[in-house]
Amino acid sequence: MVRMPARETASGLRAVARCDDLGVTPYSDADDHLFRPYLGAGHAATLDRIAAWMTEAGMTARVDAAGNIVGRYEGRHPDAPALLIGSHVDSVRDGGRYDGMLGVMLGIETVAWFAERGHRFPFAIEVIGFGDEEGSRFPVSMLTSRAVAGVLGDQDLALADAAGVGLAEALDGFGLELARFADAARHREDVLAYVEAHIEQGPVLEAEGHALGVVSAIAAQYRFRAVVTGVAGHAGTMAMRLRHDALAAAAEMVLAVERIGGAGPEDLVATVGRMEVGPGVPNVVPGAVTFSIDVRAGVGAVRDRAADEIRVALEDIAVRRAVGLDLTLQQDLPATPCDSGLSRLMAEAVRDVTGAEPRVLVSGAGHDAMVMAHLAPVAMLFLRCRGGISHHPAEAVEVDDVQAALEAMTAFVTRFEHTWSDAGTVLTEEER
Ligand SMILES: [Zn+2]
Repeated sequence: MVRMPARETASGLRAVARCDDLGVTPYSDADDHLFRPYLGAGHAATLDRIAAWMTEAGMTARVDAAGNIVGRYEGRHPDAPALLIGSHVDSVRDGGRYDGMLGVMLGIETVAWFAERGHRFPFAIEVIGFGDEEGSRFPVSMLTSRAVAGVLGDQDLALADAAGVGLAEALDGFGLELARFADAARHREDVLAYVEAHIEQGPVLEAEGHALGVVSAIAAQYRFRAVVTGVAGHAGTMAMRLRHDALAAAAEMVLAVERIGGAGPEDLVATVGRMEVGPGVPNVVPGAVTFSIDVRAGVGAVRDRAADEIRVALEDIAVRRAVGLDLTLQQDLPATPCDSGLSRLMAEAVRDVTGAEPRVLVSGAGHDAMVMAHLAPVAMLFLRCRGGISHHPAEAVEVDDVQAALEAMTAFVTRFEHTWSDAGTVLTEEER
């Protein structure tokens, strides 16, 4: 069956088609692949296009002080607090078309679906496209959701990109001012909740035959730097029994990290992703090796236990091989549980659409939702993606899955409305 694009009404197909439209120049800063860094030319062109789509869907569109695009679909009363639906519009270099952008497009489609039916809520709905989630331009990530959530650190704004362009200058090109960056912060009383739909970026939903999943938490993460110190020596003359080979020791440590990561629950993962070998030449026994260890789990205690096991195992290896080991904690991100009430609504919404019990899973990847949880309760919907591939041009989704996601989002918003109306929190005197 050949599907014709039904661009005039809300649909999953339109969401996918729009992501595809935005996958090339002028929406990309590169001619032959998708690269949409924060505050680049591609970003600017993208925001113009999204603003037009938001307006067409019945929203007013604006760019906030941090360069996020925000569309607002008014409630029955002006100045009502808002349900935020969003994700990010930036990409990694040579990235895929759906990471982040699909969640923004689904937000627009969700609003369009209700607007086509003339339905207004006792709250506003805002669709937000965050400018920076990936950190593919400046050496920080989730800069713009941190601005919205009001959790920017002082050090965040003294930033320059690889070409030496400062954040102030980049903002200036967008007609924005560094001094007003933090003005993007929202007041708690104006934001009811934040909901994000995102591709899974992993293989679980596909492997188990689910189109959609509900995220229970965003994983806690540790990042360590391990430095193994051995003794460098001539590869031809240093007898094997006299060696203190830092790389051979590190190799055994990598396998220990893999073994411990694989011995826990499904969401426990442990990775060595980077390694530097010194001096790194073919005819010298390695004298020093530095490598990274990334440990994540949906529950902080599970991650902590695994990290402890890794430390003990690595120290044992170091002692046995008579090499030095220095482990430094570089990053400690706590787990972000999604709001249980909102997640229950999302699970019911998924059940409404699929008729099946929803798969609940932990997100091993970070998302804007983990930052927005500082501001409001959050929920996340995951969509199956082909082969679990992401951050790659081969990233792909099925239109039917995106349609199911749109239906789940509209069912969620309807259930959210009933919950709020039942609670009487957002109704005026005469509506009660
Ligand atoms: Zn993403």
